[in-house]
Amino acid sequence: MSNQLSDRINSLTPSATLEMAAKARELRAAGKDIIGLSLGEPDFNTPDYIKEAAIRAINEDYNSYTPVDGYVELKNAIITKFKRDNGLTYEAPQIVVSTGAKQSLYNVAQSVLNKGDEVILPCPYWVSYADIVKLADGVPVEVPTSLENDFKMTPEQLEAAITPKTKMLWYSSPCNPSGSIYSKKELRALADVLQKYPDIVVVSDEIYEHINYGVTEHASMAEFADMYDRTVTVNGVAKAFAMTGWRIGYIGAPAYIARACNKLQGQVTSGANCIAQRAVITALEESPERIKYMVDEFKERRKLILGLLNEIDGFKCNEPEGAFYVYPDVTAYFGKTLNGVKINNASDFAMYLLEHANVATVTGDAFGNGNCIRISYAASVKEIEEAVKRIKASLS
Ligand SMILES: *Cc1c(COP(=O)(O)O)cnc(C)c1O
Repeated sequence: MSNQLSDRINSLTPSATLEMAAKARELRAAGKDIIGLSLGEPDFNTPDYIKEAAIRAINEDYNSYTPVDGYVELKNAIITKFKRDNGLTYEAPQIVVSTGAKQSLYNVAQSVLNKGDEVILPCPYWVSYADIVKLADGVPVEVPTSLENDFKMTPEQLEAAITPKTKMLWYSSPCNPSGSIYSKKELRALADVLQKYPDIVVVSDEIYEHINYGVTEHASMAEFADMYDRTVTVNGVAKAFAMTGWRIGYIGAPAYIARACNKLQGQVTSGANCIAQRAVITALEESPERIKYMVDEFKERRKLILGLLNEIDGFKCNEPEGAFYVYPDVTAYFGKTLNGVKINNASDFAMYLLEHANVATVTGDAFGNGNCIRISYAASVKEIEEAVKRIKASLS
């Protein structure tokens, strides 16, 4: 029988970060000692007070189907969290809990986009944005940013990217992969441009909100009264609470968008996992101070890796203000031949590091910016030191 796959799935790009992780696993299975700095995943365990909430939930027999949009208690905890941390006021019908922030984003794209609608993505953007948009028949419109501007889109760039087909603007702040954070003032300047285009919906992905190193305070687009009614605030517990595998994300959104996401989810996955939801109630109700030890640790590692990378000729790093990635510009290596391998682009470079330094990183191409590679420092100090040592040796 010939290949019966849909055009949709054939045109989908596999997740580059997951692919790199799989390649690293393969090499490890073949006996190679690979240091994995490709995945965006904290190397901490879920804190005990959250695990205990999950164990309680099992013993209390939380095992039935959950409400499609999430347990009432969890939605209340989310409402309280939005108020406490972000100054945002949402009502229960505006909240939808999903199986990870990734599903939240997918729901929004499927709910809002029609065929040919354009979505502005400041580059670099999170690896899945473009494909989530394409799966909804939308058209990603990439807006390149530069190291000089800390990888942030200017109001002029936003204005220039808008066409009559523009339906949405998507960004993450703190940004995965660059670690950049839009200040409240910078968001206001983007909002000022959007005033002329009242039909554009904004997706503000704030999953790294708590992983902030204290340079720029976290701000949400929905804080502005004139943006609130058309902004979807996306968040989740995977990164800041070391809960990647628990799969809980959520949105605060205009009620009509939340209703649409709820309807979609009701036909596709139903409500998110019962035990994970009970655990997240505790995660969100407790003070963010309780997870600060992880942020402090990431901050130390950031300092370490930046110092080490800046010693390597040809690595140009920005100073990430949040998240746990560095996104060095490695264009200095393009066109060079290293150990007989011609480096034409960031993908070649990342592959070279995997094969010649035994370090897994991710090509910047996956994030819509081909000058850089992404290195995660959610790894132990020992791994970071050894990885950079190997990288340096492989390049000299
Ligand atoms: C990890 C990540 C997500 C997905 O989060 P999950 O809750 O694990 O689905 C979404 N956006 C960004 C920017 C991320 O880095």
